[in-house]
Amino acid sequence: MPSLPLPAVLSLSAYDHLLLDLDGCVWVGEAPTPRAQDAIAALRDARKGIAFVTNDGRHADDDFVRKLWRLGFQASREEVVTVGGALQHVLAESEHRTAFVVGSPAVHRHVADAGLRILNGSDLAARADVVVVAAHDRFDYAELRGAIQAVVRGAALVCAGRDATFPMPDGPWPGAGPIVAAIEYATGVRAVSVGKPEPQLFLTALDRLGPGRALVVGDRLDADAGGARAAGLDCAIVLTGATSAADARAADPPPAHVAASLAELILGRA
Ligand SMILES: [Mg+2]
Repeated sequence: MPSLPLPAVLSLSAYDHLLLDLDGCVWVGEAPTPRAQDAIAALRDARKGIAFVTNDGRHADDDFVRKLWRLGFQASREEVVTVGGALQHVLAESEHRTAFVVGSPAVHRHVADAGLRILNGSDLAARADVVVVAAHDRFDYAELRGAIQAVVRGAALVCAGRDATFPMPDGPWPGAGPIVAAIEYATGVRAVSVGKPEPQLFLTALDRLGPGRALVVGDRLDADAGGARAAGLDCAIVLTGATSAADARAADPPPAHVAASLAELILGRA
């Protein structure tokens, strides 16, 4: 098999900031990817700006900060940029007043914090102004039915992203994409997505980090490399998640860097 035609070791001096995906890049489930703590410590030592940028709407921002510390990473709340926060921002800026939510308790909180009344479980659920969709572990048929009925009656449809899957130790778990696709299929309405590959999460991260050249690192060609392109940024694809070496090699346009893992990208081969 031919080796990767791209340098395994990144020239860190080319970048001031690194925008790191979480699932499949920093960790898989509860396990950090190999030597990821060392890689991020090296970025701290080199005084790089860091943001953790995730399409995962299952947890609140504070949960991500706690998980990072639990797994051995230093991180601050400011460095965590989540799709839940982006959903909240988009909804707060919108005209919508009521919502039907397909999502975790964290997403419910973001919708409520945006000032919308959540109609799940009420007689008025089908009259919601907007249906908000994110993947979560408790997704069920009643949520799907509620979402479809509200959209058929005219609700707007907003989703956390279209990721097909995210990697877990026992294999891929469904992301928001398959749930959104089910609602779109049933209603004929196309959702508006706020997650990667829309550029918004990266732009929010850059806003917080300030001026400088940034590199996106992630495991998905569609969400991470696509989102980086939309935001005008370079992307490194790591092979600890959704993308195989063959897929990375075949990508058009190719990512700026491909590495076996985040640590190999930052530190080189062990
Ligand atoms: Mg990922």
